[in-house]
Amino acid sequence: MRYRIALIRGDGIGPEQAEATLLVLLKLEELLGLKLEIVDVEAGDACMKRTGTPLPDETIRTLKGSHACLKGPVGETAADVIVRLRQMFDLYANVRPARSLPNVPALKPGVDLVIVRENTEDLYKGYEWELDGIAIGIRLITRRGCERIARYAFELARRRKRKIVAVHKANVMRITCGLFARTCREVSKDYPDIAYSEMYVDAAAMDLIRRPEHFDVIVTTNVFGDILSDEAAQVVGGLGLAPAANIGDEYAIFEPVHGCAPDIAGKGIANPISMILSAAMMFEWLAARYSDERCLEASELVNEAVTRTLEEGKVLTPDLGGRAKTIELGARIASMMEEIRRA
Ligand code: ATP
Repeated sequence: MRYRIALIRGDGIGPEQAEATLLVLLKLEELLGLKLEIVDVEAGDACMKRTGTPLPDETIRTLKGSHACLKGPVGETAADVIVRLRQMFDLYANVRPARSLPNVPALKPGVDLVIVRENTEDLYKGYEWELDGIAIGIRLITRRGCERIARYAFELARRRKRKIVAVHKANVMRITCGLFARTCREVSKDYPDIAYSEMYVDAAAMDLIRRPEHFDVIVTTNVFGDILSDEAAQVVGGLGLAPAANIGDEYAIFEPVHGCAPDIAGKGIANPISMILSAAMMFEWLAARYSDERCLEASELVNEAVTRTLEEGKVLTPDLGGRAKTIELGARIASMMEEIRRA
């Protein structure tokens, strides 16, 4: 099968990360015989400057005609791009793994958790108004939204360590978080094989620092998930390593957790691993959606090559304590894939 992948390079460090990631994709084609058609599409700040819109119709059309999208970070227009795309394609599950990797300075070792964040509701829906110095925002939470994210998280936990914590603040936000907590509790009854518990978001934020190794799957609402996943990324070594997936029933977009990092953009020193691991998540999703073993192999090979490259510790970007350029780290991961296949 030939996969049509829409590539949004994005702003800031995005295009640099995309170049490095393309080396990995090309190597996958060479090593596994994967057939990829990479279609470049524009979105973000630079696109806005050039075309007058951050998300042109042409981009949306191309995404609709593709199997999946790989996206770099975008700048100021992020809300007009990714938040809109999440709504448009109903990408309700934002999946953000945080895993300890070799040789990466981290707060705690032995972490392997995934944050499953509801991706289409909550305060990020954008229902906000201001009148005469009074600002109001609506927190939209639906039973349907809670149920589908809970089910997604429970299914994921079945393929992992079978442990879920639902994170909320139902003691204060009794109605909105109350609905979320109640729905998670109800769904948990369908999954007796999975250890289910709940935690208030403030306590969860603390435990992510204190004992992150105790978490397996965290399921939570949109805003809490956004904040906790940046925290989790830092606990295991920083945003440069943090991948993410926006998953719906029909389509998915894969992108780094972080923003476009204007402070280091244009220097060629950004860590490409967050985008390379996002590509690995994309292949895992394609494998499940199209029952394609080769995509699963691709995902495993990329993950293994990233781990071994870090273990080797010779080609590292400055955020990992090295002096390598973005493209050099991408190239080393690609050549590591070849070494793994030859061994
Ligand atoms: P946003 O609000 O859009 O998330 P931001 O500017 O607040 O963006 P990021 O762009 O996520 O934050 O960057 C936060 C910090 O992490 C910056 O110092 C940035 O250089 C660093 N950083 C982010 N991504 C990477 C990366 N891939 N490699 C190295 N450093 C990174």
